[in-house]
Amino acid sequence: GVSLAFDGPARVITVSNQKGGVGKTTTTVNIASALASLGARVLVIDLDPQGNASTALGVPHTADTPSVYDVLIDEFPLADIIQISPESDRLFCAPSTIHLAGAEIELVSQVAREHRLRTALDDYLAGDVQPVDFVLIDCPPSLGLLTINAFTAAHELMIPIQCEYYALEGLSQLLGSVRMIQKHLNPRLHLSTILLTMYDGRTRLAQQVADEVRSHFTEQVLRTVIPRSVRVSEAPSFGQTVIAYDGASAGAVAYREAAVEMARRGQNNNEGAS
Ligand code: ADP
Ligand code: MG
Repeated sequence: GVSLAFDGPARVITVSNQKGGVGKTTTTVNIASALASLGARVLVIDLDPQGNASTALGVPHTADTPSVYDVLIDEFPLADIIQISPESDRLFCAPSTIHLAGAEIELVSQVAREHRLRTALDDYLAGDVQPVDFVLIDCPPSLGLLTINAFTAAHELMIPIQCEYYALEGLSQLLGSVRMIQKHLNPRLHLSTILLTMYDGRTRLAQQVADEVRSHFTEQVLRTVIPRSVRVSEAPSFGQTVIAYDGASAGAVAYREAAVEMARRGQNNNEGAS
C-alpha cells in the first residue's frame, strides 16, 4: 500500500503549456482527484475561460455561477466561490465561467493586475480552517495575464508534454516567461515536474520524444507516463475524472502513479529543505 503524509504547507502548482490540447486540463483534474483519493485535500483553480476543468470535476459553472472572474476582477474572497466536487469531499474547485474570457483584457487596466490571484490565494490559505494540501491551477493555452496570475501565485510549475512531433517547440518561450516571472514577480516559482501525456509506446516517434525530453530535463520528468486511452477522453462527458469514471483503466492507474510520485517528491524536497 501507499502511505503518504500530507502535513506540510500547501503546495501550489500551476499546470501550464502555451499549446492547447496537450493534456493540461486532463492532467490537472486527474492528478487532483488521484491526490484526493490518496487522502490529500486538493483545490483546483480553473483559470481557463472554457471551463473544462470545472466540467470534468462535475461542478456547475453557468454564466451566473460565482467564479474566478469575480475573484480576479471584483475581489471576491476565494472561499466564497469554491465548490466541492461530487467526486470527493476532499476535492474542491474554484470554477471558471465564460466571463473569464473578458478578464484577460479587463485586468490590463487594474491595479496589481499580476498579483490578483496570489493575493486571493494567500488570504484563503491563511484563513482556511481545514487547510488544503495541494492547489492545482489549470491555465489557458496562452501566456497572457491569466497565466501570469497563475505563475505569480504558484511555487511550482508542472508542464504536461504530449509525445508528438513539435512537442519541444515553444518550450523555450515558456521557460523564458518563467525566468521573467522569477526575476520580476515571483522568485520562488520553479519547474518542478514534467509529465509525458498521451503516450503511444507503439510509435517510434513517441519514444524518441520521450527520450529527448528526459535527456533535457533529467530531474523533472516523472517516471510514470500517461498512455493514450479512450477512457481518459470519455470521462469529462460524464462530468467525471477518469479516476472516478473507470478507476481500473490504464489511464486512471497511470495518473494515480504519477500523483504518488509527485507527492513523494514533494516530501523529499521538504525534507531536503529543512
Ligand atoms: P489542454 O487542456 O492542454 O488543452 P486537454 O486536457 O483538454 O488539453 O486534452 C486535449 C484532448 O485530449 C481532450 O479531448 C482530452 O480528452 C484528450 N486527452 C487528454 N489526455 C488523453 C489521454 N491520455 N488519452 C486520450 N485522450 C486524451
Ligand atoms: Mg485545457
